[in-house]
Amino acid sequence: MWFNNSRTPSKEVAKWQGDSVAKWLRDSGTETNLCSVTAAILVGGLGMRLRAQLPGRPKALAEVAGRPFLSYQLDRLKTAGIKDVVLCTGYRGEQIQQAFGDSYGPMRLRYSQEAAPLGTAGALRQALPLCKTDVVLAMNGDAFWDADLQAFWRWHHRRGAVTSIVLMWAADTSRYGRVRIDRAGCVQGFDEKSVAGEGWINAGVYLLGRQVIEAIPSDGPVSMEHDVFPTLAGRGLYGYCSRGRFLDIGTPESYRMAETFVRQEGRRRPERVGEGKRKRRFVMLDRDGTILVEKHYLSDPNQVELVEGAAEGLRRLQAMGLGLVVITNQSAIGRGMFDVARLEAVHQRMRELLQAEGVRLDGVYVCPHRPQEACACRKPKAGLLKRAARELRFELQDCFVIGDKACDIDLGRAVGATTVLVRTGYGARAAGDPSLTPDVVADDLRDAASVIAQQCHVSTSQDIPA
Ligand SMILES: [Mg+2]
Ligand SMILES: [Zn+2]
Repeated sequence: MWFNNSRTPSKEVAKWQGDSVAKWLRDSGTETNLCSVTAAILVGGLGMRLRAQLPGRPKALAEVAGRPFLSYQLDRLKTAGIKDVVLCTGYRGEQIQQAFGDSYGPMRLRYSQEAAPLGTAGALRQALPLCKTDVVLAMNGDAFWDADLQAFWRWHHRRGAVTSIVLMWAADTSRYGRVRIDRAGCVQGFDEKSVAGEGWINAGVYLLGRQVIEAIPSDGPVSMEHDVFPTLAGRGLYGYCSRGRFLDIGTPESYRMAETFVRQEGRRRPERVGEGKRKRRFVMLDRDGTILVEKHYLSDPNQVELVEGAAEGLRRLQAMGLGLVVITNQSAIGRGMFDVARLEAVHQRMRELLQAEGVRLDGVYVCPHRPQEACACRKPKAGLLKRAARELRFELQDCFVIGDKACDIDLGRAVGATTVLVRTGYGARAAGDPSLTPDVVADDLRDAASVIAQQCHVSTSQDIPA
């Protein structure tokens, strides 16, 4: 093993979870600055599968909607405030240098040309002397991840990670190979390309500690994907589960789709929740300990009581245009402790109390099964969430999942949603669990609404009833 950057995240995580959300919002983005980091783009690949489309030209210069593919990646780096870019060139590298020269807008461009193929890791190792920073933002030159690099940077720092890779949810992982992560976001392993079905894939965007690149042997070709990352799995390698769009031009089929992808770009911004042609976004809410005061096997409508701040938080989320859906495990039904009519009465009472506060729920989905029945709908299984997405027509990855327990966070993570742990109910205890790393920890639903408003750039000032 020639990599040793394993580092326990628990202290960092505990620190961040101990912070109030307000403090988190103030701090995020004020850590070491992404703008000062060197970005390295791997544009040396031979691109064998695109030879027919690009005779004698490197993939980075493949035209997409009239511009070289590389220019879209550089645009994204420019938007993120990056100033310094190293292009790791190989096959026909002189063409790239001729096309782009030594600057791109405000960014300085430099070139690290390999004499013989070094592999993705070897190319980064060779480029290291040109990178002056402790962390390098590295990107594959034939893929494009359309999301917020600053958010990735903040996430990386909050975990105290040395190496983080961006993961994308794919309906079929067989073309890419699957990345297995635990619920803390630690990468546990990599599966071969043959594994079919949905799962997380490597999007080809990395934050790499300098020491990781320094440890790459320089005596032959080394691959990031095949040689470096597998040795780091389970040892401090983190996966950032992204909700951004992903494009690669590695095959003739995906290259043909690239033009559509970039043309959609202009129509997508500015992104506002619940507006435009994009599907409405939804918030998945746990019931007990999140909306209602936790009472052991609640079955009496007269015992229904709203958690402090819950109605106000829900009202604010609703005012942002977000749909509200309750997803709840009620194994008491399966255990025969009370019947469905009784549960309905409880939910009717919950709706009445919320309605009095101006909140209307879009749906309440219940799993009535006992744990040992191994159904597909008991949280953290995603059965109910998938059904809600089908019936209410929203995108799983665009939704927020809010709850007070690990099963809520695991549910959200399983579908690539944004996860919010509230400290109400069992949440204070769950927040102390270092293995549980929700995207956000909030004091209660009111606090959660503030964070979501910030993250979605939604103005909430005008249309919220006092
Ligand atoms: Mg709960
Ligand atoms: Zn069930």
